[in-house]
Amino acid sequence: MNGARIRLGLVGIGKIARDQHLPALAANSDFALVATASRHAQLPEIPAYSDIEALLAGGHALDAVSLCTPPAGRYALARAAIEAGLHVMLEKPPGATVSEVVDLAQRAERAGVALFATWHSREAASVDAARDWLSDKRIDAVRIDWREDIRVWHPGQEWILAEGGFGVFDPGINALSIATAILPEALRIVSSELRVPANRAAPIAATIHLIHGGATPVTAQFDFLQTGPQTWDIVVETDGGILRLSDGGSRLSIDGDAIGGGGDAEYPRLYRRFAELVAQRKGEVDLRPLMLVADAFLVGRSVTTDPFDF
Ligand code: NAP
Repeated sequence: MNGARIRLGLVGIGKIARDQHLPALAANSDFALVATASRHAQLPEIPAYSDIEALLAGGHALDAVSLCTPPAGRYALARAAIEAGLHVMLEKPPGATVSEVVDLAQRAERAGVALFATWHSREAASVDAARDWLSDKRIDAVRIDWREDIRVWHPGQEWILAEGGFGVFDPGINALSIATAILPEALRIVSSELRVPANRAAPIAATIHLIHGGATPVTAQFDFLQTGPQTWDIVVETDGGILRLSDGGSRLSIDGDAIGGGGDAEYPRLYRRFAELVAQRKGEVDLRPLMLVADAFLVGRSVTTDPFDF
């Protein structure tokens, strides 16, 4: 590329592509959005294809693709792009299974292209400060509360409650991506309860119990049926005080006193990082949040709840 812009194809033009990827790309001079692939959607004045094969064959001299489709089915898209010699950025969750993402990482490394499994919530304004503050504390207990209204944030997204859609773990994995980034030691799953509507395949709510380090209890409540105030909070009790990271990692307080924060730059930061990885032809794939979700399903006790319709 020799300093030229990274010629990017955007795949899966839905809510997150429009809300976040397009503005972040428009503001980043490292990238040129040259074409899209989406079964139905198109963008004004950008060449559009209905699938990735047509995009790859479209003669756009692409350097990279950014995949914004749902996780189920993303493996085939990423693999086709890697086989075409392109760098690949993956929305979270990076795939529908752990094994397919491991396979992609190995393929990307062999091909000498960058595979970037993004975790946008880790880029929220106060996550780095929370990690730094916690780094020398004794962690006594952790509580994660991730409760949002599926009808507000995922209107009509049938895929999210289907097989491979992750259900409430679609937002819940954001909490786990933050927890794995800010807590000093490893997290492991102990038990989980998955509440699955009678007419759906994926949980609409879940409670999970984890251990941090040697024996510190961590409890996570994920709920897709929260109306009224929405909650994306992580509370960490330590020997130095109580840390509260709220609004999905945006705001931080210690013992009730607000510290820094503000300004949402999650996707601008992700694209800046992707440009660095492309320049270095280096991958960045942290599987820990996906492994925790997989483990929650492995040990999960499934409870059938009332049918759910959007
Ligand atoms: P979405 O609104 O449903 O958009 C996904 C797009 O992908 C669809 O519009 C669809 O466009 C295309 N697509 C391709 N194959 C599909 C399939 N089998 N089923 C459904 N759509 C398919 O979903 P989204 O909210 O943008 O989420 C996409 C990814 O971004 C997910 O992994 C999600 O976790 C992540 N994400 C979402 C948010 C958010 O707030 N919504 C935030 C951060 C990350 P065509 O019909 O034109 O193909």
